[in-house]
Amino acid sequence: MAQALRVGVVGAGLGGTAAAGLLQRAGFDVVLYEQAPAFARLGAGIQFGPNVMKIMRRLDVEKKIADVSCHPDYWFSRKWDDGAYLSRIPLNAEYDRYGATYITIHRGDVHAIMTDAVTPEAIRFGKKLVNFEETAKNVVLTFEDGTTDTVDVLVGADGLNSRVREKLLGPEEPLFTGWVAHRGILPMDKLAGLDVEPCVKWWSDDRHMMAYQLDGTGKEFYFVTGEPAESWPANVPWVPSTRDAMRESFKGYHPLIQAYIDVADTITKWPLYTRKPLPLWHRGRVVLLGDACHPMKPHMAQGAAMAIEDAAMLTRCMSELGTDNLEHTFEVYRQNRVERATRVQQVSNANTFLRQQEDPYWVYGYDIYSHPLAQ
Ligand code: FAD
Repeated sequence: MAQALRVGVVGAGLGGTAAAGLLQRAGFDVVLYEQAPAFARLGAGIQFGPNVMKIMRRLDVEKKIADVSCHPDYWFSRKWDDGAYLSRIPLNAEYDRYGATYITIHRGDVHAIMTDAVTPEAIRFGKKLVNFEETAKNVVLTFEDGTTDTVDVLVGADGLNSRVREKLLGPEEPLFTGWVAHRGILPMDKLAGLDVEPCVKWWSDDRHMMAYQLDGTGKEFYFVTGEPAESWPANVPWVPSTRDAMRESFKGYHPLIQAYIDVADTITKWPLYTRKPLPLWHRGRVVLLGDACHPMKPHMAQGAAMAIEDAAMLTRCMSELGTDNLEHTFEVYRQNRVERATRVQQVSNANTFLRQQEDPYWVYGYDIYSHPLAQ
């Protein structure tokens, strides 16, 4: 019986967690393996467009997420020095047109809500995949702790440095984009009296700062930047940074930017990586999704969105086309994702999205469930 198939999802990030929850709801027997010893609350914000919230509806968590997030009516793009408005893009101001809410939220909060949508006994923490071997009937997984497990299908949702991708395509370092991102969270009461908009991107010619509220009650605010950098040391995922380093990088920028920096609690700095589009997304019983497949600079705030859309499309294909011919099912999945994911990757890497007045309907209006499956 196809629906009894045992599906191993490697990586409990936002893409893998969405895949596990959606595949469970479609009747598959899912095991979600994560290398981290326990759930970790990453100190960062994230934006989910209506395209993602339509998927959260299927995961039965749309309301829970909406209840604790901020719902900005507009995205403002502003000039770095005098604050002149470059664009004013309707978000929730056009809720009916997009068909769901646009939210900004603490990444840890949304990740926790999504994790609760997966049955706890299906989640295995402390399981770092080091190898897998495919046989005619299944895939045997080997973990760093020496244990093994056997699944019918392996979903590689293990992010930028995916071990699953490496096994399929061979070792290849991701490409450093020449950009880094500062991230900081700040208490909103320390911005009292200032004219703070809930969702604004500040632009100059060579760097930017995206700033938004993390919750509906206005307790926390967040910024994430994009700044040029010559290099980044290998195998260092992020480093602590300081207000002084940011003041130096944003010297002369608008007073609101200085105000955010002045009250930021903890500041970290992250490298931004990408990869060239992959020549294959699946082979045999193994399939990739999210950053394992198409990492990008985060400048459209759609990287996790693409991972979650992948999860939804993969679940649709496995449910609607069945799993007797996995090669065909996974190829239909790829065909229905590659164009959109590649376009978002390109626009995100170019860092042009919403800088000028434009209609983002192609991103936010998209409903993966009403998209006819091209085969
Ligand atoms: P990941 O989130 O990287 O998850 C991979 C998981 O796999 C991790 O939990 C990891 O521990 C686990 N793993 C890795 N290897 C193994 C292994 N061998 N065995 C077991 N487990 C393993 N996207 C948005 O949509 N909106 C935003 O606002 C946004 N802002 C961003 C800001 C910054 C600064 C950055 C860097 C990215 C941002 N993104 C944003 C992009 C987004 O974070 C990623 O695209 C998204 O997290 C990818 O999800 P994923 O599930 O594919 O991979």
